[in-house]
Amino acid sequence: MNSISKILVANRGEIALRVMRTAREMGIQTVAIYSDADRNALHVRYADEAVNIGPPPSSESYLNVEKIIEVCIALKVDAVHPGYGFLSENAAFAKAIEEKGITFIGPSTEAIEIMGSKLAAKEAVSQYDVPMVPGVNHAVEDPNEALEIAKSIGFPVLIKASAGGGGKGMRVVEEEADLEEQMERAISEAKSAFGDGAVFVEKFITSPRHIEIQVLGDKHGNLVYLFERECSIQRRHQKVIEEAPSPVLTPEKRQAMGQAALLVAKSCNYHGAGTVEFIVDENLDFFFLEMNTRLQVEHPVTEEITGLDLVKEQIRIAEGLALSFKQEDLKITGHSLEVRVYAEDPTNNFLPDIGTLKTYKLPQGAGVRVDDGFEQGMDIPIYYDPMIAKLIVKADNREAAITKMLRAIDEYEITGITTTLTFCKYVLEHEAFRSGQFDTKFVDKYFTPDALLKDDITGEQIAAALAFELLESEKSSTLAQTKSSGSASKWKNRLKD
Ligand code: ADP
Ligand code: ADP
Ligand code: MG
Repeated sequence: MNSISKILVANRGEIALRVMRTAREMGIQTVAIYSDADRNALHVRYADEAVNIGPPPSSESYLNVEKIIEVCIALKVDAVHPGYGFLSENAAFAKAIEEKGITFIGPSTEAIEIMGSKLAAKEAVSQYDVPMVPGVNHAVEDPNEALEIAKSIGFPVLIKASAGGGGKGMRVVEEEADLEEQMERAISEAKSAFGDGAVFVEKFITSPRHIEIQVLGDKHGNLVYLFERECSIQRRHQKVIEEAPSPVLTPEKRQAMGQAALLVAKSCNYHGAGTVEFIVDENLDFFFLEMNTRLQVEHPVTEEITGLDLVKEQIRIAEGLALSFKQEDLKITGHSLEVRVYAEDPTNNFLPDIGTLKTYKLPQGAGVRVDDGFEQGMDIPIYYDPMIAKLIVKADNREAAITKMLRAIDEYEITGITTTLTFCKYVLEHEAFRSGQFDTKFVDKYFTPDALLKDDITGEQIAAALAFELLESEKSSTLAQTKSSGSASKWKNRLKD
C-alpha cells in the first residue's frame, strides 16, 4: 500500500476539474498547473494549490516535463494524474515521474510503450486469439511492398501512422494508382506530426462501427471489463457522440468482446483504467484496432451505467489496492449518452470557432450531467483542443435517454461562439440514429450543413430573410446564380447579426 495524499493533475479544462472533484471526495489534496492562457481557468480556482508553468503553447507548458516534475518536488506531491491527451500516453514522462519516487496514476511504462505504438500493440496481441483488421503488423516503407500487401488484402486500404492518435495520421487509398503518392505523404506527415515515420497498411473497412471496451486492472493481476461504449458518430475519425450500452450488441457478443479486451490487456500486463478499441462490421464481426492506456474522454457513459467512479478506481489501483469487485458483480443499469460540445461550426466543415462565451447557461434536472471547464464570460483559448464541455444523460432505456438529451440540448444556452450542439441534435433526431442502424460514415451519408440551417431557423425568419434577399437582388441588376447552400448560409449570417 502506497497511500496518496496529494495529487498534481497534469492537464487542464474539464478533465482536470473532473479528476480534482474525485480527489477531493477521497480527502486528497490537489495541485493544478496552468499556462498563461489559463490564469483564470476553473481548474486553477478549484485546486488547493496552483502553479503557473509557462506560456500558452502546450509545448512550453502542459508538455513541459521538467517543469512539471520541479513543481511535484517543490510541493511534495505524491502522485500525478495525467488526464487524457497531453502527457497521458507519454512513457518517458511516466518513467521520469516514477524515478523521483512519485506515483504515475496509470499503467506501467512498458504497457504505455507497447500500446502507444499501433504496431507494437498488434505484435503483443498476436500471441492471443484476438481478431485483427487484415493487414500487416510491421512498418512498411517500400511502395512496392505496400502494393503487394494492398493487392493481397484488396482495396480500399488504410495507410496508418503507427504513432498516430486523435484521429490523425490516416489515409484511405481507393485504388492502386494512388498508393505510392499517398504512402509518401503519410510517411512525411507521420514524421512531422508524431516524430515517427513508421506507417503500415490495413484493410479499410468501408462502413464499420466503432465499439470499445473499458477495462480495469489492479496490480495483483485482477482484470475486469466494464462493458462497451458505442462511438460510431465521428467527424474526421474523431468521436462526437458516444453511448453505453451499444444498441446492437447481444449479450453473447458483449461477452466475446469483453474477453478479447481482457486478452489485449493481459498482453501488456495492464493495470489501471484502459480502453480496447474495436471496429465492428455489419455481421458484428469485431477486429482489434488499438488500446488507449489512459482515461478516455467518453468514460462518463460507463460510469453512468455501472455506478462506478473511474477516477476513484484509478487512484485506488495506483495506491496498490485490489479491485473491490469481480466481473460477476458488474451489471449494466439503464442507458447513457454523451455529446461532446466542441467550439466548432458544423455548417462550416467543423472548423474551430473560438471566442468569448457571451451566454453560457447549463441544462439541469435529474439524469443530466455536464463535465466542463468554463463559465459565462470566459474566452475559449485558441491553443488547445476546442472541446468546451461534455453533456451526459442517463435514463432507463435508450429511447428515454435520447428524449432527455434532446431536452437538455434545448436548455443549453451558448452564445458568442458556434458549437456542435445543433449538429448533435440533428443526429439524435435522425431515423438512422434512432433505429440504431448507423456506422462511422453517418456524417458522410446523412449530414449536410443545409439540414442544420433548416432546423434552427423558423419559417417566419426564413420568410423575412427571403424578402430581404429579394430586395437586395432587385437592387443589383445582375441575376446571380446562387447555390442553395450558399444563399442559406447568407440568411443564417443575417439572422445572427
Ligand atoms: P478518446 O480517444 O478519449 O475517445 P480523442 O481521440 O478525442 O478521445 O483523444 C483525446 C484527446 O487526446 C484529444 O484532446 C486528442 O486531441 C488528444 N490526442 C489523443 N491522441 C493524441 C496524439 N497521439 N497526439 C496528439 N493528441 C492526441
Ligand atoms: P486513433 O489513434 O487516431 O484513435 P484508431 O485506430 O483508433 O486511431 O482509429 C480512429 C478511427 O478511424 C476509428 O474509430 C474508425 O472510425 C477509423 N478507422 C480506423 N481504422 C480503420 C479501418 N481499418 N477501417 C475503417 N475505419 C477505420
Ligand atoms: Mg482510437
